[in-house]
Amino acid sequence: CGIVGAVSGTDITNILINGLERLEYRGYDSAGVYITDGEHDTLIKKAGKIVNLKEAINDRQLGNSGIGHTRWATHGQPSEANAHPHFSQDHRFYLVHNGVLENTESLKETYLSNVSFASTTDTEVIVQLVDYFVCHEKLAVFVAFEKVLSLIKGSYAIALMDRQQPEQIMIAKNKSPLLIGVGDKANFIASDAAAVLEQTHTFMAIADGERGVITKDKIQLFDAQDQKVNHKTYEVKLDS
Ligand code: GLU
Repeated sequence: CGIVGAVSGTDITNILINGLERLEYRGYDSAGVYITDGEHDTLIKKAGKIVNLKEAINDRQLGNSGIGHTRWATHGQPSEANAHPHFSQDHRFYLVHNGVLENTESLKETYLSNVSFASTTDTEVIVQLVDYFVCHEKLAVFVAFEKVLSLIKGSYAIALMDRQQPEQIMIAKNKSPLLIGVGDKANFIASDAAAVLEQTHTFMAIADGERGVITKDKIQLFDAQDQKVNHKTYEVKLDS
């Protein structure tokens, strides 16, 4: 239902929690975050309210990059195991997704018959597939991500992290909302500008079919044909 992510030179734990709280009004059944400081990474998922996540975090500062999610179940019951972020079998890749995928059963049969799944969501198939193409076809991570995007059908806003490249977030959008918030030595992603308005008022839209990589000081976007795209930024003003 909601996505927030941040890559920064300073700790982003509170930015993610705050962002998820700003998305609460949309409704959700569970929530989670994946945050890394480059050496240690932390995955926390909880059924129910964001306050449960907050209690588990207990004011710790978990790192400078991460992704967070509020889930409204479409595939698989509401539960901690089905909450996002989802992760690959080897715990290298972590992913949040809004939307609904239509062809995950056939993708599972074709590529992932040897994989044991930790959830019953459509989403987990995306992250297990990225890992499959990296491990079995030895594709570079972003190339593997693009291959997965070419295979999945349905609606999605996706944010993917690789624990071996903790300073970046890979993103993709098709028929589900996703924006980039442009900061000063920090960049953000959100399904709704409201989630990061305390961090920045400058935003960049992402068109359907586009994908990219953001770091704290760089935003790179590509279209489905792998051509670089440049979008102008725009300002979002707070209502007062
Ligand atoms: N289809 C995904 C799930 O059921 C994502 C739902 C959402 O957008 O929150 O986990």
